Amino acid sequence: MQIERGILERFRTQMCEALQDQLDLLAATEGNASKPACCGRPMSYHDRRGVPCLSWMGSVRIRCRRFRCLICKRERRPLLEQLGVEPGQPSGLLARLLSVLGCVVPYALAAELAWQVLGVKVNAMTVWRAVQRLGEAAARHTEAISAYHANPSAQVLPPAGAPDAIVVAVDGCALGMQVRPKRRRRKTPDQVLPALPAVEEGHFREVKTGVLLLPADRVRLSPERRGLVRRVVVTCLGDANALFDRLWAELSERGWCGVNTVVAVVGDGAEWIWNRAAMFPKRCEILDFWHAIEYAWAYARLQFGEGSRNAERWVHRVAEDLKAGKVQQVIARLKSLQPNSQQSLEALEALRKYYTDNASRMRYDEYLRLGYGIGSGAVESAHKQVVHARLRQAGMRWSELGARRLLALRLLLLNGDWATTERLRMVPFAA
Ligand SMILES: [Zn+2]
Repeated sequence: MQIERGILERFRTQMCEALQDQLDLLAATEGNASKPACCGRPMSYHDRRGVPCLSWMGSVRIRCRRFRCLICKRERRPLLEQLGVEPGQPSGLLARLLSVLGCVVPYALAAELAWQVLGVKVNAMTVWRAVQRLGEAAARHTEAISAYHANPSAQVLPPAGAPDAIVVAVDGCALGMQVRPKRRRRKTPDQVLPALPAVEEGHFREVKTGVLLLPADRVRLSPERRGLVRRVVVTCLGDANALFDRLWAELSERGWCGVNTVVAVVGDGAEWIWNRAAMFPKRCEILDFWHAIEYAWAYARLQFGEGSRNAERWVHRVAEDLKAGKVQQVIARLKSLQPNSQQSLEALEALRKYYTDNASRMRYDEYLRLGYGIGSGAVESAHKQVVHARLRQAGMRWSELGARRLLALRLLLLNGDWATTERLRMVPFAA
């Protein structure tokens, strides 16, 4: 309907005027505040020239007082600082709206969405800057919470009413990082930049993701399928310790880790996971069921032939026995097998060692009964949603800062915590 658009535009103009009036009022009463200080003395008044600012309703000017330090020449506009506005940048609300688009789709597409959805014309760089400013604030916020809970002297009392069990699953993937230290810029708008060099070894960084879920939140969708009604995702571009600090902070923030809470850690058998899992005194280590089965497949393919019915039947039986908690019987059976080639002998030995080393993490009947689940599917899907869906699209490369900021924002969005951004002060772009 054309009528809708007409009304929208008419009221947008009125909203913009109302915003301008409010800003003028604020600027008019600003005179009562005392002068800011710098270099140990009050700064001197410079001017009250209007600063342009793009809001969701349209362009406005903020006629705020500008002060200058006579010694170091630094300038300050207290009203802009109070409003969290940077000259020439989108206002707080618009910046948050652009950021939410920019953390869902690539920046150029986000700019197009801003026009279609918000009726605001911006370019991709404006969206990118908004994501950097808000993302930096979000990343610092998350890191501060992590640091707080990692400090032993700040430990809060174990919460009463903590759940009996909590499931923690972790996963990681590599992200292509920028080879060049600086962003490349076009000298003219239509200059075509040469293709980026191939990503070399050492230009990947691992992104690690962890998921926290309560067994009670796994609900039966159908006899075969279970789904999750709630999950909390944490992620970081860093080492395993940083990820586990995040997981711990999130558990503490939510009051999910009491003295009697069993922490069920699901992992794919990577050592870094089990090494860190030891931080939970009451824990249950679970080897991801699908990794266990993948090992069985590796042997079966060699022994019975790729795609053969026998291979399928053999693996199926191993899977059924493992689910029934018969890991020791499976290992005993592996010892009596007669491999038909050197290769299949080696695969069999690897399989037997893997199951023997992990036998205590393969009590799948028990995990199913307790509702812990047996696979790391939840974290794999979360990881894809957080990382792959936005950061691993074709040809994408990331700077360390850019990836860290975007991940921090995506997590707030995907965890249903976007409202937190309302309390965050955007970090000035220069910082
Ligand atoms: Zn100064």
